[in-house]
Amino acid sequence: MDLNLGNVSADRSTGGSDEERVKVLILGSGPAGLSAALYAARADLNPVVLSGMELGGQVSLTYTVENYPGFPDGVGGMELVDLFRKQAEKFGARVEYDSAEKVDFSTRPFRVQSVNGKGYIADSVIITTGARSVHLDVPGENEFTGRGVSYCATCDGWFFKDKDVIVVGGGDSALEEGLFLTRYADSVTIVHRRDELRAGPVLIDRAQTNPKMKFEWNSVISEISGNGSVQSVRLKDTRTGKDRVMPVDGVFIFIGHTPNTERFKGQLDMDERGYLKVDQLMRTNIPGVFAAGEVADPHYRQVITSAGMGAAAAMQANHFLDTLSSA
Ligand code: NAP
Repeated sequence: MDLNLGNVSADRSTGGSDEERVKVLILGSGPAGLSAALYAARADLNPVVLSGMELGGQVSLTYTVENYPGFPDGVGGMELVDLFRKQAEKFGARVEYDSAEKVDFSTRPFRVQSVNGKGYIADSVIITTGARSVHLDVPGENEFTGRGVSYCATCDGWFFKDKDVIVVGGGDSALEEGLFLTRYADSVTIVHRRDELRAGPVLIDRAQTNPKMKFEWNSVISEISGNGSVQSVRLKDTRTGKDRVMPVDGVFIFIGHTPNTERFKGQLDMDERGYLKVDQLMRTNIPGVFAAGEVADPHYRQVITSAGMGAAAAMQANHFLDTLSSA
């Protein structure tokens, strides 16, 4: 497809040597971004993907993904996104190990300035920058991530068969994921900083009646320790300030997610938590800018749902560009 660039203002239609004109620019390389890249590539749109700081997104940090169809024995998170990437590249997508630093969606074509100093002039943009788990920011947390510290019970719960684990947080996620963990773990202790849960009554009732669930109220973790993998945490009482060591095999942290949308503030509509607002066709409030995956989805946060949203966004971008070229 050859784009009719009739709508393009003259000063934006060509770039200098450090600028590249693209039909579809995808920001983010998780399941949503790479699925969008596959679909855009197969539509002959030669998409460029800016990988972001974390190639493959959050799933690349997951040891094994067991709920993505087609892999009955599970697949490594990194391996899965690598397969996604190869498949997209096979059809003409290009992945750049770079991130968007500044975006300007005020006029089309859109301008994106990368961290590596390159400028992209894009007829359409698909945002798949994902979300990140909020961290506790305590000693030992980074060191033991993937070795006892996890932010995903669905991904890692199986590894804690017959073990004792802690879940940090008092919201719906903490209780839902904690209940999921009772399938595997011997005991699941909810560590909450107050003496009242934030979660809804149904989950509270289920958690409080589950014989494997225990509660440590008014408690926060001040340190995670171990030797190769997690062995204990230091718990601090939020009322008295006293602390004690609790032996434990795993620490699951569910104290909220933050969508990676800071650089779109003031340009794209977001909800009160910063998630991008999209309609059913993955369209943001700016025609030609689409969003998919966790950056626009606070509910499902699964590889399969993100991949589906990414494919849909690419199909809509293709439709948008078709409409432009026939205008
Ligand atoms: P959330 O509702 O924001 O809850 C976060 C929890 O973590 C709160 O209990 C909070 O304590 C605690 N917390 C925050 N920062 C902390 C820190 N630094 N140290 C220790 N604890 C900390 O987040 P969420 O549970 O992920 O839920 C997000 C949204 O998704 C909510 O609207 C929720 O209803 C929804 N959701 C719904 C379902 C469902 O309906 N099945 C499942 C999952 C999520 P405080 O309570 O003291 O603030």
